[in-house]
Amino acid sequence: MSGTLRVLPLGGLGEIGKNMTVLEYEQRIVVVDTGLRFPTTDMLGIDLVLPDFSYLRGRARDIEAIVITHGHEDHVGALPWVLRELGAAHAPTVYGGRLTVAMARSKLDEHHLRDAPLADLSPGEELTLGPFTLEMIHMTHSMPDSCAVAVTTELGTVLVTGDYKFDQTPVDGPPADVSRLAELGREGLLLLCGDSTNADRPGFSPSEREVGPHLEEVFARAEGRIIVTSFASNIHRVQQVVDAAAALGRKVSLVGRSIRKNVNIGRSLGHIELPQGMLIQPQEVEDWPDHKVVVISTGSQGEPLSALRRMAHNDHRAIKLHSGDTVVFSATPVPGNERAVNETVDRLYHIGCDVVTPRDAPIHASGHGYTEELKLMLNLVKPRYVMPVHGDHKRLRLHAELADAVGIAPDDVFQAENGLPVEIDARGARLGERQQSGMIFVDGVDIGDPADVALRDRRMLSADGIFIVVATISEQTGHPVAPTEVIFRGVPFVEQAGGLVQEIRDEVERSLAASAHDEIREIDLLQQELHDDLAAFVYDRLRRRPMVLPVVVEV
Ligand SMILES: [Zn+2]
Ligand SMILES: [Zn+2]
Repeated sequence: MSGTLRVLPLGGLGEIGKNMTVLEYEQRIVVVDTGLRFPTTDMLGIDLVLPDFSYLRGRARDIEAIVITHGHEDHVGALPWVLRELGAAHAPTVYGGRLTVAMARSKLDEHHLRDAPLADLSPGEELTLGPFTLEMIHMTHSMPDSCAVAVTTELGTVLVTGDYKFDQTPVDGPPADVSRLAELGREGLLLLCGDSTNADRPGFSPSEREVGPHLEEVFARAEGRIIVTSFASNIHRVQQVVDAAAALGRKVSLVGRSIRKNVNIGRSLGHIELPQGMLIQPQEVEDWPDHKVVVISTGSQGEPLSALRRMAHNDHRAIKLHSGDTVVFSATPVPGNERAVNETVDRLYHIGCDVVTPRDAPIHASGHGYTEELKLMLNLVKPRYVMPVHGDHKRLRLHAELADAVGIAPDDVFQAENGLPVEIDARGARLGERQQSGMIFVDGVDIGDPADVALRDRRMLSADGIFIVVATISEQTGHPVAPTEVIFRGVPFVEQAGGLVQEIRDEVERSLAASAHDEIREIDLLQQELHDDLAAFVYDRLRRRPMVLPVVVEV
């Protein structure tokens, strides 16, 4: 037992989302989760944020497996990019529960990665790969088929909990496998990497099953159409909405691509039951009386292109909202999304809809355990060491305090960070050397760097606008042969700065004249110089930094 086990978080610590953890022993690697994160409002035009997984670059052959705990985007969303980076020839097999694998498969299909190797790993099965033995343990969460992963080496077992709560009355499937967790505790768990999402909420989380009756009460009060929005992946919630609708004799329509996709997969694997004849197409909604319809829609987070946001902006093809409609938010905003959600809610009021949120009625239950559940986990598995994961810095700290409260020595609790691994060998555990970590921004399907030019450009454009300057110069002399054109868009205060456009023209000519005598004229260089001169000049005059785009044409 001379080896060192490295447990390296690449995402999910000090943030909400993009969970990814690398476990490495004797140069062999198991990756648990490959999640993504949605951009915050200052990441203009960026679609997705991935963990920086440079650590795995060139190491495809060392990876024994990628294990996905459950099908949420913050655990599986980066998989296409990770697999593409590792390369088809050496891509490791991706393991997960049946539904998780089905969701991963559908995601990879969308990215044209149809050959990627995926395999079911059901709770109770053991899989030995290199120096690792893997086992999934059934947990409860806001997504069926959620598992914790136990990774065993000769040093002992690491448990990565994934997202979990201890729901005693889940809507679908059995409660969490507490007896297996207790067994791990008796065998002696080496390290617990535990979900910290709700480490700030005291007590026990309410059961998902408690949401159903409250939804039905809210529905019973609505006289017109009901539009319910929740996380598209919350198949349990969709089931409860369907049940409440059925109880009140309403038809159900699914609106939004991701909700239709998830319900299809959930149905095919038996996680959701829809009575015969209950489902109607979005374009049929108008054919039914208002009091006979429930629409289940994407957009609970105010996502820009979601169905609900479109409806709120009167921009949805099939569904036109009107007064008398009741919109039910069966979800709370993920931190960072509050503004977008508030904006959507206010639009809905403007249209004349009634809006019901979890502030008005208990119509949402979190999928993450509260403090008493985190303590229960600690007491069940009795870890030698603890590394809180999956939470911002505050919640990681609170989780560490819970570990302290149940009697784990503070020295055995590691407040790691993305890129900062915990290393364990026969002598003990310590924080290791910092590794590369961070964010990769995805803009459409492109992959780029945080310093990505496009992002900076968009931020400049949105705040300060753009100047385009077209100068036409003589190939022979380098002097202007036509008046300089100055075009501007979205530049604040430009009208007030009278004469600015003429001054810019003069500045262009000055700048060009200065380089006209150069022996060799490179257009690129000329444009660069022009850019620098103009940017300095404009900043001097406006105290703003609009984008300056000089175009030099030689004739
Ligand atoms: Zn989750
Ligand atoms: Zn999560």
